Amino acid sequence: MASSSDLFKHAQEVLPGGVNSPVRACKSVGCEPLFIEKADGSRMWSVDGQELIDYVMSWGPMILGHGYQAIKDAAHKAVDMGASFGAPCPDEITLAEEIIKMIPSIDMVRMVNSGTEATMSALRLARGVTGRDKVLKFEGCYHGHSDCFLASAGSGLATFCIPGTPGVPEGTVKDTLLAPYNDLAAVKAVFEKEGKNIAAIIVEPVAGNMGLVLPAEGFLQGLRDICDEYGALLIFDEVITGFRVASGGVQKRFGIEADLTTLGKIIGGGFPVGAYGGKRKYMSRISPCGDVYQAGTLSGNPVAMAAGIATLRTLQKQDYDALEARTLKLAQDLKAALEANGFSIHLNHIASIFTLFFTDKPVTDFESAKNGNADVYSAFYRHMRANGFNLAPSSFECTFTSFAHSEADYEATLEAVKSFKG
Ligand SMILES: *Cc1c(COP(=O)(O)O)cnc(C)c1O
Repeated sequence: MASSSDLFKHAQEVLPGGVNSPVRACKSVGCEPLFIEKADGSRMWSVDGQELIDYVMSWGPMILGHGYQAIKDAAHKAVDMGASFGAPCPDEITLAEEIIKMIPSIDMVRMVNSGTEATMSALRLARGVTGRDKVLKFEGCYHGHSDCFLASAGSGLATFCIPGTPGVPEGTVKDTLLAPYNDLAAVKAVFEKEGKNIAAIIVEPVAGNMGLVLPAEGFLQGLRDICDEYGALLIFDEVITGFRVASGGVQKRFGIEADLTTLGKIIGGGFPVGAYGGKRKYMSRISPCGDVYQAGTLSGNPVAMAAGIATLRTLQKQDYDALEARTLKLAQDLKAALEANGFSIHLNHIASIFTLFFTDKPVTDFESAKNGNADVYSAFYRHMRANGFNLAPSSFECTFTSFAHSEADYEATLEAVKSFKG
């Protein structure tokens, strides 16, 4: 088989940058991407025959591990019945019901094909419901790549230091208002000025696209209160956190209800699915029962629905507390090993997600996330990859564990980290 390096050369002739999503190219960590042949459990194998323990897990979706048998079986069975109908199928109802059962604030769901579509559509709905145009987002939060969210949007853009991007009309981002994450006073100030024009606040209720950043005590409740006061909708973007931070997402864990919730990543079990949902009075405004248009040729795809159902039903029986405790121990062990080798580390952790920032200062927002030493992280990434561990190729990303990672995986990881001297 051709090597990763040969394939990367070849790919660059036909795919911009050789990839279909920028961070994958590994540019910011100073190396070429590995091309992956297959993955199973906590591991993946590159076309070069290298075996790696994976801590990216497809950027979060593979929380049950790669190649989980019940998901494979469900997808195979669905494919045999037909890949796509462009007409309603029973599994759409079943997946919607599983989501509604797990996430308390959701009464109705619309399926889409990606997280980007989910956030874009949820914002359209919020604008339609309120009759207002403006949206408040937080610096360093990523909500997919649709135009109006591409202002200060975390990892992909932070990694490449692009302030926004060409191709987005000024007129589109002029309705996007920004505040620093965890800064309620800044949010209040924006609302005092613009409150009656703001359709929604959209937030990653636990932020995962500037590295992991947790909401400060009272931050999410504060957003809830401000939205209620001004008649704006609160949109929780739980594309990463839904079914990962807890089986019912951040909102269940922290006891705060969003008006609309966007989902992606895990709900497809590795297939391309997104969804947005919320209170019935809002969701019933969506076409065809309401006037806010949104559509999709492959939305509710039967194979993706079957994989999603198998994923969520399996997750309902998993021990999230045990996974959280094991992940925290791993993260603390890795932090201690790096500190023993002379590095300053700040650890942010929740559930099966963590980020080790190469800085001695706390990381609470995008500004402080930038204190992480990107050069040291790059060297760390290359050291780990050479030793058979796949980390996110950017210092503004998260480490994801899964139910498939074993104690032996963690011990091997700790040994490799101990041998990193910079
Ligand atoms: C990944 C992500 C998205 C975009 O999802 P895609 O499926 O990549 O379009 C949106 N919001 C958050 C919080 C994400 O992490």
